[in-house]
Amino acid sequence: MNQILDNPFPYSDTNKRYHTFSYAMKKKYGKKLAKIPLNAGFTCPNRDGTKSYGGCRFCSSQGSGDTILCANEDLKTQYETNLARARNKWPDAIGMAYFQSFSNTYAPLADLQKIYTPFYENPNVIAIAIATRTDCFDEEMAKWFSKMQARYSKPTWFEFGLQSIHPATARAMNFAHTPTEAKLVVDLCHHYGLSSCLHLINGLPGESHEDMLETAKFAASLHPDAVKIHMLHLLENSRLGKDYHQRPFKLLSQEEYVQIVCDQLEILPPEIIIERVTGDGLASDLIAPLWTMKKTATANEIDKLLLARNSWQGKKS
Ligand code: SF4
Repeated sequence: MNQILDNPFPYSDTNKRYHTFSYAMKKKYGKKLAKIPLNAGFTCPNRDGTKSYGGCRFCSSQGSGDTILCANEDLKTQYETNLARARNKWPDAIGMAYFQSFSNTYAPLADLQKIYTPFYENPNVIAIAIATRTDCFDEEMAKWFSKMQARYSKPTWFEFGLQSIHPATARAMNFAHTPTEAKLVVDLCHHYGLSSCLHLINGLPGESHEDMLETAKFAASLHPDAVKIHMLHLLENSRLGKDYHQRPFKLLSQEEYVQIVCDQLEILPPEIIIERVTGDGLASDLIAPLWTMKKTATANEIDKLLLARNSWQGKKS
């Protein structure tokens, strides 16, 4: 059987039965768009005491930016170095500046303007993605980024950590943000024509399969432009990693994870881009689960299960 020809999912030209970022960007730009990770030197209100201390329990000391090359160099050097690395793999790739580490709008607007304006002006930057917290984004920022997006014709994305909608998990993991805030910022992005992406984490301690589906249903109801689905991975230099060393707790198997992701994909509307179906921690810092290192194998299992179910993203949305 030719799996590609038999694929009923409309937003795909491969065997993928979900709307991948790679497919969406190739449709838009006609070539590979590489996200170039950057560390702009921000911190996070969940670490410095403004909201809480210590950060989310799963967050590494690098604020989720562990894979950035030259993270201590100036931003232009970081962009050029990491774009060159991407072009080793995809020689004609174009670049999206991805401000990944910590909360990249956690500063007064005047400071943000100094950081982001050179990226709007740089012709080698095709688009901009900014990871931040839902409580670090407001209307004044949305207006300025929307203006810059229009002036330079550079799509501007905001990525927000939702992770889970469940209050008990939020308390245990010290998120110090709420689903209500997520709705506000996604609505703000919609209103100002900015793109939004929500991050979800599966396998957080104490959560059931149904809990994870409820989080995906909530995310679907906000209709962001994209979603990233991660498996909880425990890293050295994270508080949850230390907890696990002291008292190991149950983590999802790859099989359980694949089942959950397929269930979530079925309820996410097909237009929503799925930027990720697995996490991306630094292998040398990974404590568990070790199967998360095999990202392609996990993605293949997701493809196989959707095919076996004769299902696809949005089939139950
Ligand atoms: S909000 Fe992000 S950067 Fe801040 S502690 Fe949580 S995961 Fe880390």
